[in-house]
Parts: sequence; C-alpha cells; structure tokens
Amino acid sequence: MTTICLCACGSKKSADDSDLKTPAINDFNYKVDAFADMEILRYRVPEIEKLTTNQKELLYYLNEAALQGRDILFDQNGKYNLCIRRTLEAVYTNFDGDKTSDNFKAFEVYLKRVWVSNGIHHHYGNHKFTPEFSQIFFVNEIQKLSASAFEKIGLNADELISVIVPVIFDSKIAQTRLNQASGVDLIKTSASNYYENLSQKEVEDFYNKMKKPNDETPISYGLNSKLVKEDGKIFEKTYKAGGLYSAAIEKAIYWLEKAAAVAENEQQKSVIEKLISYYKSGDLREFDEYAILWVADTASHIDFINGFTETYGDPMGMKASWEANVNFKNVEATKRTDIISGNAQWFEDNSPTDKQFKKEKVKGIAAKVINVSILGGDGYPTTPIGINLPNSNWIRAAHGSKSVTIENITEAYDEAAHGNGFAEEFAWSNEEINLMNKYKFQTDNLHTDLHECLGHGSGKLLAGVDPDALQAYGATIEEARADLFGLYFMAVPKIVELGLLPNEDAYKAQYYSYFMNGLLTQQTRIELGKNIEEAHMRNRQLIACWVLAKSADDKAVELKQRDGETFVVINDYKKVQQHLGELLAEIQRIKSTGDFAAARDIVETYAVKLNPALHKEIIERYAKLNIAPYKGFVNPVYTPVFDENNKFIDLKIDYTENFVEQHLRYSKDYSNLPSFNN
Ligand code: ZN
Repeated sequence: MTTICLCACGSKKSADDSDLKTPAINDFNYKVDAFADMEILRYRVPEIEKLTTNQKELLYYLNEAALQGRDILFDQNGKYNLCIRRTLEAVYTNFDGDKTSDNFKAFEVYLKRVWVSNGIHHHYGNHKFTPEFSQIFFVNEIQKLSASAFEKIGLNADELISVIVPVIFDSKIAQTRLNQASGVDLIKTSASNYYENLSQKEVEDFYNKMKKPNDETPISYGLNSKLVKEDGKIFEKTYKAGGLYSAAIEKAIYWLEKAAAVAENEQQKSVIEKLISYYKSGDLREFDEYAILWVADTASHIDFINGFTETYGDPMGMKASWEANVNFKNVEATKRTDIISGNAQWFEDNSPTDKQFKKEKVKGIAAKVINVSILGGDGYPTTPIGINLPNSNWIRAAHGSKSVTIENITEAYDEAAHGNGFAEEFAWSNEEINLMNKYKFQTDNLHTDLHECLGHGSGKLLAGVDPDALQAYGATIEEARADLFGLYFMAVPKIVELGLLPNEDAYKAQYYSYFMNGLLTQQTRIELGKNIEEAHMRNRQLIACWVLAKSADDKAVELKQRDGETFVVINDYKKVQQHLGELLAEIQRIKSTGDFAAARDIVETYAVKLNPALHKEIIERYAKLNIAPYKGFVNPVYTPVFDENNKFIDLKIDYTENFVEQHLRYSKDYSNLPSFNN
C-alpha cells in the first residue's frame, strides 16, 4: 500500500555538511498548535549530528518501524476509531465551504482531538469527546465525498451515516474507553477494543483457567491478543504476522529487518531479530526472551521500544497497546543516573519498607537519560517522560529492568512553561515560587530518575502472590510506590552527598510542586462532576491526600484560604518526608502481599473523588491563565540520503512540519490496516 522511496531523494551530501545541526534552545520555536485542552509542542533532538553514518541509518530504519503501528492503536482504543478517523480526514480535506464557520472550526478541533487521542475518547480522561459541530453539517459533508473516498474508508455514505454518526453524536454510546468504577462490569462498560461479546466474569474465568499455579516464570497472559466469543466459543485472536493486525506488523517487521542488518553490535542485532521472530509467532514465551535480551543490551548507543507494551488501556490491566519510540543516550546527563544505579542497593536497604518486602539483592538496574528521535503508537503525540521496562515481574526480579528519562521532552515542557503565570497563581508565597524557579527542572528530572530506575524496580512480592492480585487498582498502587520512593529519598542527606542535588533545600521545590499538583492543580485536567480515572493522576492524589489527612494533628502540610482562594502550605518538610515514608511502607505491604481489599480502600478513599467546590475554584482560577492542561508533540521529519548505489549516506532532519500536516501525512503513508479488523 505505502510506497517507500529509498533512492529518489536526490541531493547527495557528505556527513560534514549535514542538516542535522540541532538548533539552540533560544532559536527554537517549541509551540506548534493549541486547541481544546491541548497544546502541541515540538522537541529538539540534541546531538543527533554526532551519530555515525551507520547509527543514523539504524536510527532511520527504527524510526520507520516505530510509525507503522499507528493504526493498531486506533483500533485497540475502539473498534470504530479507524473508520471515524478516515471519514473525518476525508471530510476535512474535501471541504470547500466556509472555513471560518462555527461548524467547520468545531469540526477541525474535533478531528485534532481524535488525532491526539488516537480515537474518540480523551487520551487521559478516557471519556468520549462531545462534538461541537452539528450532526446535519457532518452528514451533509459525508454525502459530498467521492466514490474513491468511500472505497478508502470501506463503507458507503449510508453505511457511514448509520454506523459512525451515532457513535460520535449519541452520548450514551461508548461513553468511556476505560471504565474503572467499582461494582460494574468493567468489560461491558468500556469501549476499548480488547474484548468482544464477553462479560468480566467470562474474561476472568478464561485467564484464571490458563494460569498455572506456582509458575515462577509466568508469561504475560493475554498481552498480545483480543479475547472474543464467537458462536459460544471463547478464544484469543493474537496480534501477529498472519494474525490480527498482520498488515501493520508486517510493515514493522520489514523495517526491523533493515535495522537488524545495520545494528551497532551482536547483542542489539539479536534483540531486533528476536522481536521480529516474536512478531511472526505471537508466542509470549518469545516475548519474554526478547525482553530478557533487550534488558541485557546496555552497551548500544541507540535503543528503542516497539510493540505491545503497556496495559493501562485495558480495564483488566492485561492487554497491551502498541507503542514505540526510538532514542539514543544523552551521555552527559546519564552520569546522574549512573550514580543512582550505582547506589541501588543502598536505597533498597534504607527504604522505610518492611524487611520481608525488600530485595536482598537489587539486580541490574540500567538507567540512562535519553533523547527521543521519534514517538509512535501509544507514546504519540502524548508521551511519558520516563519509562521503565519490561513489565514482567519475574523478568525484573531475575534480569533487572531498563529505565530512562527522556530529557529532550522534559526540556520542551520546561521551555514551553516559562512565564505562563501558573506558579504565581497557585503557590502560597514568593518563597515557594523562588524555590521552584531555582530547583524544579532539576528535581523533576531527579524524581523521574528515582521513580523509574529505583522505584519500580524496588521491593518484591511474597512467594505465591499473584502479580495481578490488585486487579484494576494495581496500576495506581504501582505508580504510587514508584513516586513515593522518589519523593522519600529525594530528601535524604545522601542525595546531596552524591552530588544529585546542590543543597539540602532543593528537594523542597519538588515537595511543594508535588503537593500543589496532587491536592489542587491536577484537577484542572478533570471535567467538573467527573472523577479521576487515570492511574498516575490517581496515584498523585492518593499520596497528597493521604499525607494531608495524616497531617491533621501536626500540620506538616495543610490547605489554607486567602481571599477566598485555596493554597497548599507546607509547614514542616521533614515531617512530610516522614509521612511519605509511612505511606511507602503501607503501599509496599499492599503490593507485596497482594492485599486487594486494602488497595481498593486506599484508592477509593483518597485517589478517586474530588471536592466539587474546590474543583470548581481550581478550574476557574486556571481558566484565567489560558494554559492548556495537556501537551502533545509533533515529531521531526527525517529524510534519508542515498548515493547512486543506493547506499545510505546521511539523514536529514526537519522541524517545520505542523500538527495537521503531520497527521494527514501519517494517515497517508502509514495507513496499514482496514477500517475494521477481525
Ligand atoms: Zn511509573
């Protein structure tokens, strides 16, 4: 379908006059677009010019592989998403009416939101967007599309109108992508596309039967498949070449094979080849073998994620969305994470958790700071700033994990936030504002490092505890554990001794901003009347509210009113650290013992509900500042240069593509799947 030009790029360049010079921070325009609750940024790729020609070639092939699964994610997020996206794009590019009309402007915002969320549900809040254009406008525009447009979408006008118009406009259909409310059937009430015709009970029974008792090296059950019931039979449709999503996976394989041929070393080559083999077999044992090889590859300069990875989008926390990125090491900043990793055992031994839950020997924590060259799948256009993989508990215990902080993304966030008035509105006094101005970027990066390289890798499950025991609460508990680990240790003197922070006050910038966010400002991301659903947000509120409740007597942290507005005041930072340590011990106990009832109680009590009056106040104060609560990114555009013998000689990078151009191009060049996949 997609034609990939490997030779027609014309201009020949030697490596020295390459276009890969990274623009300086000051010359770089980070802001690309803004709409609804989103701001779209671009990121620099520092030091890409320092890669060797061979590394640039590898990077290019991995970049291409990272873009091939975009359609997979749309389909995983909801079974109508691809059809809807294609229809919206066809209407958008075909439109020849008044582009200043309210209908068209609202339609454009809706399409941009679908691009951001890889579907019709909010990428973070999971609820379905409300279209602000009229149904009549949309139906009229569908009817104007050409025969070839309908062919590409796969349905004719009447079919489209009867199938997707209700999905978009009827607020009762597919209300949420991911329901985590307690006491309802999570499968039946979630619109994500990981299960078909099944109840939660049927899903649980299916996988409970599959799990072997006392298996010390369990596969990640259900990770790479859709579970369906057809003609009364329940079975998995595996994502693999020749299986579900085959066309997109085959494209990824094509580029991975090219990458394997120019790998930096044998270890990296074996990683890529194992991934290809797993994509062909769909065998989760092979996925584990791949993960083990990938963890061991710490020598390569370039690294990547490509595949069915994180399970946040599945209400049962089993099925993974397709995700990709390509990155290379930021050598200077990695010295910081080397220090952390080098002291991993000290942190484990000195953690405030119960001895029986600690790892006697912390293994192979490989942490580094990276710059990404491309974001793909569930990491695009919104992306995490730190990643720790693999997720399999026994692999982490036996082989360790790799942990990264993405510094060119945190840089873009930080640069885009300068001078937006946020701290001035929400911080209690100039003292906190000065603290944050001085130390927030540094402590944010350190907190991410500690969260990823030590937090997730710390502690252990007691023998016989089911890693899925906490079910829908598992992700929140796990994120809380990692965050608490970072927060607690950030305030120990050892951090200053190790040279990770400049003095004994710097951590306060992180504490203040964390509590301000967890108690107040993250609520700006939630619509009035709604609860918190997303695991990381739940975790932040859990920590902040639990410590606030604990501080009822000692007033270590409190909420204070001034002129009718609410502020966080931290009176005793050391006491706050002590409470964080108490909570870390309890969260680790819940995780280690698989205490589902305690996980449910602590999450439901502290992490989910909002105070309506406070929520309203925060939203109103925030609205005055005109800042978008969410950020997404456009990728740079890469163009390979080949010589007359079709030999790769250089890679060009361009930062000028805008958000709309990028998505229309991706939908054209990486449109690998039919609108409906079975
Ligand atoms: Zn995490």
